[in-house]
Amino acid sequence: MSVLSSELVLSQRSLWAEGQPISDLMSRALTNPDLISLAAGFVDPTSLPVEVTRDVLHDLLASDSEARRILQYGTTAGDPLLREYLLEELVERDLDGQRGDLSAEQVVLTAGSNQLLHLICETLLNPGDIVLCASPTYFVFTGMLTNIGARSIGVAVDDDGIIPESLEEHFEHLRRVGELDRIAAIYVVPYFDNPRGVTMSLERRARVVEIANRWSSRRKIHVISDDAYRELRYAGEDIPSMKAVDETGDTVIVTGTFSKSYAPGVRVGWGVLPRGLVEPICNQKGNVDFGSPHLNQHLMRRVLEMGVYRAHIEQVRASYRRKLEAMLAAADEFLSPLAGVDWRRPNGGLYVWAELPESIDTGPAGRLFDVAIQRGMFYVPGQYAFPAEGEPVRRNTMRLSFGVQTPDNIREGIRLLAEAIRDVM
Ligand code: PMP
Repeated sequence: MSVLSSELVLSQRSLWAEGQPISDLMSRALTNPDLISLAAGFVDPTSLPVEVTRDVLHDLLASDSEARRILQYGTTAGDPLLREYLLEELVERDLDGQRGDLSAEQVVLTAGSNQLLHLICETLLNPGDIVLCASPTYFVFTGMLTNIGARSIGVAVDDDGIIPESLEEHFEHLRRVGELDRIAAIYVVPYFDNPRGVTMSLERRARVVEIANRWSSRRKIHVISDDAYRELRYAGEDIPSMKAVDETGDTVIVTGTFSKSYAPGVRVGWGVLPRGLVEPICNQKGNVDFGSPHLNQHLMRRVLEMGVYRAHIEQVRASYRRKLEAMLAAADEFLSPLAGVDWRRPNGGLYVWAELPESIDTGPAGRLFDVAIQRGMFYVPGQYAFPAEGEPVRRNTMRLSFGVQTPDNIREGIRLLAEAIRDVM
């Protein structure tokens, strides 16, 4: 029998999904294991909670009947006690202890906050719909939008995050061109954002929510507040989340995660949803996995109940604070002599954002990336973090991560970067 050659047919979504353009660049860099990577946003391997996790798992599985329950499937929205705990914490921190009509039903547990962001996109967006984002913003999120045929439009930013006047201008422009009804959401990372490390003031948060409400004349416009880095603060006081300024209670979607504050391998994320979104998002999730890993949810619940979580966060913060200081000190020493090279000091998170002279392209079209690899380090070219439309892509930028490397390696990585910049200047 002859074998007919058949055609591989991929779905439209698969064709839309470009993958992360950054992956190619990273695999180029990873061919040399001795390189100092200031690229990946991984967490500090040395402060991962190995012992605590071992003890908690042992404890969790000690009783046969409890172990059997935990090793079974759970519910789609996740362990009720962990959801209640997360809600209480939000109420204490952001709502002065006033729960109002918020309930733990509105908290959903997911496999990392990325899964929730994806479910939100699936739930709110049709192909061609628009999300307004900071320019630059978290590139995995804009990748998700591309993946489902939706559009990301970049709004101008300053030291306080997304600029309200620029947001207004984009709304106004989209109204003029007849696309107002296409806008489904504004996406922000209000704590130590990825990639710039910037935090929004409470006043700015309130303005963004107010703008979303005011432009929701026909279609409801949500504010997706991605709070992934909230716990990673190294200076200053915590700021209430956007939920604190969500007066109607149905505009803001808060997403959170234990990936940065505890361990990404556990991959427990959560969201606090407006009431009307709970069922549609759970319906999506029901068709994807009908519940995230149950064992991991129990692990996190027990970690919280045992009171070891806060102590762990303090330890993690101390470690990152040292690493951030190492990066900033190295930048002062090696980058400040270079004309036109500038960077910002974040108060938390995992990233330092740097800007180079306009003439230097940090991406694959420029020379710097390869020269830096030859010198022995690599970084994330900033251009990948700019939404496809809206504010212009700035190719002379880069994201430097300080989470993974030791302080000595961070210093060396920045020294090598300075040499590479000098080479191409
Ligand atoms: N949001 C932002 C801004 C992030 O940087 C990340 C991780 N890099 C996430 C969400 C997702 O983290 P996870 O899915 O592990 O919770």
